[in-house]
Amino acid sequence: MLIGQEITVLGAGIAGLAVATALAQRGAKVRVLDQADAIREVGAGLQISPNGAVVLKALGLGDALAEAAPRARAVVLRDFRRGAQVFRMGLARADRPYHLVHRADLIEILRRGAKAAGVTVELGRRVVAVTPEVDGVRLSCADGHTETVPLLIGADGLHSPTRAALNKPVRPFFTGQVAWRCTIPLDAPDTPPEASVHMGPGRHIVTYPLRGGALMNVVAVEERDGWAAEGWSHRDDPANLRAAFADFAPEIRDLLYRAGEVYLWGLFRHPVAKSWGQGRVALLGDAAHPTLPFLAQGANMALEDAWVLAATLADEEDTDTAFARYEAARRARCARIVEAASKNAENYHLRPGPYRAAAHAALRLGARLAPQAVAGRFDWLYGHDVTAGR
Ligand SMILES: Cc1cc2nc3c(=O)[nH]c(=O)nc-3n(C[C@H](O)[C@H](O)[C@H](O)COP(=O)(O)OP(=O)(O)OC[C@H]3O[C@@H](n4cnc5c(N)ncnc54)[C@H](O)[C@@H]3O)c2cc1C
Repeated sequence: MLIGQEITVLGAGIAGLAVATALAQRGAKVRVLDQADAIREVGAGLQISPNGAVVLKALGLGDALAEAAPRARAVVLRDFRRGAQVFRMGLARADRPYHLVHRADLIEILRRGAKAAGVTVELGRRVVAVTPEVDGVRLSCADGHTETVPLLIGADGLHSPTRAALNKPVRPFFTGQVAWRCTIPLDAPDTPPEASVHMGPGRHIVTYPLRGGALMNVVAVEERDGWAAEGWSHRDDPANLRAAFADFAPEIRDLLYRAGEVYLWGLFRHPVAKSWGQGRVALLGDAAHPTLPFLAQGANMALEDAWVLAATLADEEDTDTAFARYEAARRARCARIVEAASKNAENYHLRPGPYRAAAHAALRLGARLAPQAVAGRFDWLYGHDVTAGR
């Protein structure tokens, strides 16, 4: 079905580059359009869990990932005040690689993979409207240019014009949480490759090393009434971040003292899109199911989607059947992940008191008495392999 088929992908992010590569490797003629004038990424880290890593491996990019981001050893939940360990989830299973990677490195790996597969990328192409037509899809660009393409895959993220073409507009709501993020020069190659989550009342902070300890990635979340905009590029004064975590453990205070360029992101909940594909248009990644970052799964879901969408398009004669199969394979899983991520903030942000003490004691006890059972709670998430058998 895909040999020689012309497919346009809107968005050169994680979802767009991954789906473009997967389609081109199956014989399609793929071009990717992006509004940016260069493929560059914000300085931030990403946790690529085993369910996302299997897709990179199947695309032939597993070695590049392993080289750019050695495997993580554990995720450790800690109490905010002294940093005492509450729960440690080991990530040492040989068949389940978990990586802590710089976003720019992942994008570069995907860009190279796409190029090797024959994908072309056109930059500076901002699409303002997507209009499905009988035999194709019309794209209206910000510079006044319009064109009709035979098949469009929308990987255009949170504010997706492709989603708007398939779905009624919905208003996301502010969750009452903001996330600061920054990378802090560390120059400490012996830092263990672990993600730490310091959990405090109404706040938590996730830290992990990147690029062999050259940088520490920080995502710090605070509950608050004040609204903040949603997006990667809103700067904030690092003094605000330091003030919000001033009662956290000394290692966190010391780290934040060195924070320079800090970005603030308002966390909004968006419903999962009702329609993911129809006629000659389909969606994936954040365009279909934006998620809160509390389970570190947005990019991983995007990779899973990319694989499944390309595989179903390759299998089916007509796109409606392919899109229906793709959505049937993905919707329930993505909705479950989005829901679980939203719940995680509550678990992290418990207020001091008997409930918090009991919850932390249960976690400690469970980890000591039945570590396998506790780790097994994530089997549904990390053990899922969309590439199995293909
Ligand atoms: C603080 C934070 C931490 C996170 N940590 C993790 C993590 O550890 N692990 C994880 O898996 N996920 C994480 N995520 C989520 C993850 O970053 C996203 O889910 C992922 O980047 C989505 O990829 P995407 O390709 O769908 O969208 P995007 O990365 O947003 O890419 C969309 C692309 O489309 C282009 N585009 C958009 N609109 C247009 C247009 N109109 N015309 C042309 N081009 C357009 C954009 O320029 C961009 O290149 C985190 C998110 C946040 C906020």
